Amino acid sequence: MSKQFIKDAIRTESHNFYLENVGPRLVHASMGLVTEAAEFQDALKKALFYGKELDKTNLKEEIGDVLWYLAIAMDVLNTDFDTEQDRVIRKLKARYPSKFENDLAENRDLVAERKILATEIFGKDHPAYVSGIDD
Ligand SMILES: [Mg+2]
Repeated sequence: MSKQFIKDAIRTESHNFYLENVGPRLVHASMGLVTEAAEFQDALKKALFYGKELDKTNLKEEIGDVLWYLAIAMDVLNTDFDTEQDRVIRKLKARYPSKFENDLAENRDLVAERKILATEIFGKDHPAYVSGIDD
């Protein structure tokens, strides 16, 4: 059973590997982000399931570690925290003009959001970029 499962599973494994499409720094950043997010969650797990005191110092440490890996990713992608903070807020304002609503979460205008996310293509004067700015 176990060997058959492995055989059946790896039948669909891709043997293609295009590291040149990603580059080692983004792989490093991605692995680090996942690892640090898991460390953040582990600190919550210890408090939630083992009854330990929530270690906020450790949680803040893990946030800093995530930022460190984000810095690598941003350097590779030629962006910065200010730009990405602005971009995500514009996207969220387009998605939720006043506040979070389940209906808006389930019926997103992905085309409009993509235009906001691709400001390098459309520029900051493009209507899709401007929409959602007004409060
Ligand atoms: Mg860490």
